[in-house]
Order: sequence, then structure tokens, then C-alpha cells
Amino acid sequence: MTTFADALPGETFTLSGTTEEGFDTLYGIPAVTLGENCDRLMTLGHITDRAVLAVTSAYHRRVWGHRVLPSSELADLTRVGTKRIGIKVTKGGEDDYAWHVDDADPKDPAAQTATIMSVEWLPHEDVAIQSECPACNRASRSTSLTTGPGYDGWGHYHRCRYCHHTWPAALAFDDLDDQRDRWLYSEALRGTPPAQAAQAWQHRLALTARRVAPRPQSPAAWAP
Ligand SMILES: [Zn+2]
Repeated sequence: MTTFADALPGETFTLSGTTEEGFDTLYGIPAVTLGENCDRLMTLGHITDRAVLAVTSAYHRRVWGHRVLPSSELADLTRVGTKRIGIKVTKGGEDDYAWHVDDADPKDPAAQTATIMSVEWLPHEDVAIQSECPACNRASRSTSLTTGPGYDGWGHYHRCRYCHHTWPAALAFDDLDDQRDRWLYSEALRGTPPAQAAQAWQHRLALTARRVAPRPQSPAAWAP
């Protein structure tokens, strides 16, 4: 069977799951994302439910930096979010993808087996720190990954449940200078004078520091 290196544009070849073909190793299993929004993960062969959960969780941790939460959706992932199918892989042309994949009849001699998982809808631990809406001052704890002011591509945003204002989230693991720039930019768009926006940022830093500081221990029951 033809390999990726030997295949000509438009020719069918057999994926072997090497880095040359764009695979990453997640939990020791070669996997690759599919789709423009990387909403699906594919591994070669028909893998077990346990391996599906391990690969999906490793993907969320590595690529998005967050932990998938235990929930009933994990059962749905293995029940309806995972397809064990036959695929046929074709090498792309010069200005095309390196290769693309189509469903194939398992009886087709050019078909190979693969497992495809939907990975983007799983509930996960939020990576942002609680923050007050700059427009109405109500607190927001959760964020969503979307496009908005202050990021070139996708980013984490708070969206106020009350006034629907959207502002960039401060991420626990993010660079502080980047966060400040995003904050100042988002406030400038709202018409806040720069000095006032800078002061509000300093105030937020102090609040954040308090929120991530360990809570004081409650006094022991036997203490006088
Ligand atoms: Zn608001």
C-alpha cells in the first residue's frame, strides 16, 4: 500500500500516524485534529472507550490548558460522540491540505480503520479568574472561548449575564503584560479615558491577588 511520502497529489495512501502526516502524540496515542475548528480528533484503528477518554482529556489539557470535568457528557462522548469507521486518505495538491480523509466502506481495499471523536463540547474547568463587568460591575466567573476585542484569534472572554458587555478574561496561567494590553484595549473601545483604564487595571490586579491567595485557616475547634 502507498505511503504518504510515495503518494502523488490526489492519490490514496495509508496513514501510519507519524509526525510527517501531522499527528501529535496524546497519552501515548498518535492523534490528529480534523475540521477547520479542530472540533474532532482522529486516531488510527478502533480504540477502546478508555483510550478515547484518555486521548480527549490529554488533548484538552495540552492544547487548551484546561481539565475536562467529570460529567455525564463523558458517557455521551463514548456513546454517541465517538465513531469507529473506515476511512480513505488522499494526498492533497500543492496549495491544498497535505491530505484529506473521507469515509470509506470497510470492504474497500484502500480503506483503513480509524476512531473519530467530537471533542469541543465537553464541560471543562474554567481557566479564568473571577472578574467584575467593567460596564455594570456585576461579577462573572465563567468564560467562553470566542473572538472579541484584544485578541487576534480566539480568546477567553467574560460575557456579562446582565448587560451583555464582553471583556477579555484574566487567565490564571497567562502573561500579565498581554492581559493588561487586552484590558486597556477593550476599555478604550468602550470610551474609558486611558488614565482611568490604567487605574482600574491596577485595582483588578489587587483584587485578583486577593482571590488567588490561600484562604486563612479556620481556628481549630480546641483553640481557646
Ligand atoms: Zn455588565
